[in-house]
Amino acid sequence: MLPTTAKERESLAQARDTLAQLERQFTSESRLEEVTDGRAVVAARGITRTYGRGGAAVHALRDVDIDIAKGRLTAIMGPSGSGKSTLMHILAGLDQPTRGRVSIDGIEITRLKEKRLTQLRRDKIGFIFQSFNLLATLTASENIVLPLSLARRRADEAWRRAVIEAVGLTDRLTHRPAELSGGQQQRVAVARALITRPAVLFADEPTGNLDSRTGSEVLGLLRRSVDEFGQTVIMVTHDAGAASIADRVVFLKDGRVVQDRNRMTRDEIYDTIKNLEAAAVADERSSR
Ligand code: ADP
Ligand code: MG
Repeated sequence: MLPTTAKERESLAQARDTLAQLERQFTSESRLEEVTDGRAVVAARGITRTYGRGGAAVHALRDVDIDIAKGRLTAIMGPSGSGKSTLMHILAGLDQPTRGRVSIDGIEITRLKEKRLTQLRRDKIGFIFQSFNLLATLTASENIVLPLSLARRRADEAWRRAVIEAVGLTDRLTHRPAELSGGQQQRVAVARALITRPAVLFADEPTGNLDSRTGSEVLGLLRRSVDEFGQTVIMVTHDAGAASIADRVVFLKDGRVVQDRNRMTRDEIYDTIKNLEAAAVADERSSR
């Protein structure tokens, strides 16, 4: 069927963009060799990211060191503009630091050529976005196995079933995204991220477009992927409730890690964020 309305044409164009993006992320001929050193799954040293030059330069990250341990859920928090997205993009190999090094599963990604980096992202990393990023024309089931289809890899049947069961989509597999609720769409996205058994799963505000009940369901899934499958998860969020499911909460301010703590309650996180935001406002006033 040809798209007739402007809205249909727009959603088709969107689907093409998403597909192109996913293809860039997942397709390439050969797999990277496994290099595991048994230490941190993600390790970053001296990460600095500066946008622009001279007087107009913005220091998004300043000399950040961070190690992400295997099989834990780490939340990255901080006021708006503190560098959360920049850090996530650099840790995931989607952006290059101005200075510093990052390795994933023992492979230094900051030295890889684009093609190897694409392979590494495909083989080692899962992504969940705020806006789900599902392909409208594919069923839930097809969306879930898309990373494998694009890499011409076959799904391990037992694993595929385990993932689909874990996200509770067994009776929705033939539905297309438009026939699913927001929470169900994000559950498809979680399954799609888990299907390749990535070394690390990055989630950028995964509950940002969901109401609190469906948001909790998605958070529950991320938590279970860590507890039951040993998945390593890094989640960027500004929601204290979301961060309270994490094993560790890393707070950024002005491009620096200012606090790094184990499990915190929602109230503790909320107070910490409030203090950081108040400090950010005070800094801005004094610099005027
Ligand atoms: P957060 O995700 O915590 O809100 P970001 O990582 O998006 O923060 O941004 C950190 C800082 O870098 C902000 O001051 C932001 O304005 C700036 N920044 C981010 N991306 C760019 C860019 N492409 N060009 C210029 N400045 C940028
Ligand atoms: Mg951001």
